[in-house]
Amino acid sequence: MLFFDIFGSPSRWVLSLLIFVFLAVSTFAVRKLKIGRGLTFLFYGLVLVFITSLAQSYAGFFYERAVSVQILTLAEMLLVLTSAVILVMASSWILMNEALNINIVFGFVSIGLLLILYAIFVANDAAIITNIRQILPIVGMSYVFLSLVSRPKIWRHLGEMIAGAAVAGLIALMLWPLLSIQKYPWYLPIDIVMLLAFSYYLLYQQDLQRKILQYQGILRRTNKNIESIIKASPFPIIISRLSDDALLLANNNAVKTFGLAEDQLARYHFKDFFVDYENRKKLTERLEKNKEVHDFEILVKTPTGNTPFWLLASVNVMDYNNDVVLYSAFQDITSRKRRESLLQSQADRDPLTSVYNRRYFEDKVAKKINIAHQQNEPFAILMLDADHFKNVNDTYGHKIGDKVLMELAAICERSLRPDDVIARYGGEEFVVFLNKVSSDIAQMIAERLRKAVADALVYSDDDKPVHFTVSIGVAPSGISDNVNLMIKMADDAMYKAKENGRNRVEVYTNEIANNQRTENGGMYKNERMIHPVFAQEDNAEISLLDGIETNHMTED
Ligand code: GH3
Ligand code: MG
Ligand code: MG
Repeated sequence: MLFFDIFGSPSRWVLSLLIFVFLAVSTFAVRKLKIGRGLTFLFYGLVLVFITSLAQSYAGFFYERAVSVQILTLAEMLLVLTSAVILVMASSWILMNEALNINIVFGFVSIGLLLILYAIFVANDAAIITNIRQILPIVGMSYVFLSLVSRPKIWRHLGEMIAGAAVAGLIALMLWPLLSIQKYPWYLPIDIVMLLAFSYYLLYQQDLQRKILQYQGILRRTNKNIESIIKASPFPIIISRLSDDALLLANNNAVKTFGLAEDQLARYHFKDFFVDYENRKKLTERLEKNKEVHDFEILVKTPTGNTPFWLLASVNVMDYNNDVVLYSAFQDITSRKRRESLLQSQADRDPLTSVYNRRYFEDKVAKKINIAHQQNEPFAILMLDADHFKNVNDTYGHKIGDKVLMELAAICERSLRPDDVIARYGGEEFVVFLNKVSSDIAQMIAERLRKAVADALVYSDDDKPVHFTVSIGVAPSGISDNVNLMIKMADDAMYKAKENGRNRVEVYTNEIANNQRTENGGMYKNERMIHPVFAQEDNAEISLLDGIETNHMTED
């Protein structure tokens, strides 16, 4: 009986058949699970083992036809090895879910081939060949068994349980004849060590995979938590990928603030929101240094192109869903910014005439003089004082006096270039910085100004024309680079213009300088350290912050 030859005895034959049936059932039962492919391979492997046994029974047939024994044995051994390799591949499918582990398969093929070549061509010992013939399928089967039991969920599915039991039964059957061979007992320990090493490897791999899955789960949950926190935040928050700057996440607030289409986030790039390229570059540089940046002001433009607005940003570099991302949270500071710039301009300007105030003038002109000095450019300072202004107030009232001051400032602004600076220095006094002008040109400009003022008029409450004039002092550059000293010089020249009849222009000269000193025992005559109007201006600045305009004088 052929089958009896293969499996030894009728009882072993029946047992083998039973195991085949079991395997067929379990393969069918798990066909929809991920290990289905592995068990299918196991089945193929066993079929090949069976075919190999058949071929072994017909060895005599080939031998009679004078095929060399060594070639015959090699062919048989390769068949044995192939069936074992298929079993190993089955174990790899079972273990790795979908991916074949090339290392396991390749390792097995190499060791098996070496063993076979050694047995046939080097040792040429029938007993060793017999042992290999029996051991290789056992090793392959053991791979399958170990891969089955190292699956954590094996005991939850009947198909897998049956497969495990069937494979264990087959191994027992195959080991049986091997144990009865006494000639080379050292095969067994080697076999066991190999199996143990492999099982350790399998378990290690399995454990690694389990840990990876576990951490992936934790990561997913953490990301989910982060996402729900982000969604619920009262601040606009976006997450953008560092590599390509694409938006990955934006909460409702950010969608609203930036005017985004929620379902097409990846279309947007964080960098597109910046109005100013330099601003963006600065943020990038700071992030490269610190990985997090707080209180960073960004002037933002939206994809829909609304007016730019200010956001205060906190930006962090972090990991999110296997990407390195920028986590950016924002706060709208547009109104604060607007208030700041309003306050700033209010602090710099005279509330009645809107030209700059004295403090701003002194700071700004000091810088301009510095630059002019470096570039070797001339400049000049003019001091303007309304003539007999007290009379205007007395005749037409304070309101008309104010109107005259406003008109005076307006004339100055109209007549001067953007590079010049004009400020209200005191009550009815204005000071002007003329950039890049020689003494002659400065005098010409002053003359033009004087004439423009003399030609202008405002109307009183009862529609009478009110005329007014100014006296102007000119301080050209070259004598001093100190702004206060130059103002003083312009002031002296202006007083000279008053003395000479008002509605005039005078340039500061040595004569004026000498006059001032001799008349005042070496001191300047018009020391204006405590001018009543300066005190008034300081008051005006303080009350400005309270939002009350008080620069209008309440008494003369
Ligand atoms: P002079 O030609 O010598 O400069 O004579 P003046 O009257 O212009 O000079 P004076 O310094 O005697 O008077 C300046 C006046 O300017 C006194 C003050 O009431 C008035 N004045 C100062 N600030 C304001 C203001 O903000 N509004 C109005 N309406 N008058 C002001
Ligand atoms: Mg005055
Ligand atoms: Mg005056």
